[in-house]
Amino acid sequence: MDHRRSNFDFRVDVARSDLHQTMTSAFTRVQHGAQLHPMLVMRLAAEALGALYRDMAAAHVQDPHCPCGWQPDATCDLDMLGAALAQQAVVPIPFDLRVMQPAGEA
Ligand SMILES: [Zn+2]
Repeated sequence: MDHRRSNFDFRVDVARSDLHQTMTSAFTRVQHGAQLHPMLVMRLAAEALGALYRDMAAAHVQDPHCPCGWQPDATCDLDMLGAALAQQAVVPIPFDLRVMQPAGEA
């Protein structure tokens, strides 16, 4: 067993869970507070992610010696992000989420 790979997978799972919880909380809070249509709030969330990508990519272009080694390529990076969004959007909903009441009004 490759323990480094397992540790990497564990850290990815923790990061995925943390971001999911944080974004769900932010989405619910914003939709409740602004009383906006869920798809408009989804679009605003996508815009926020796009702005985050732009800022992170710009920081890496300005500092190509960042130890992470990322060299932004908007075409490839945005294709990957779009594919990840589309893939997660069609994943079956876990049972415990199907019984949750939607927050706010649609
Ligand atoms: Zn970096």
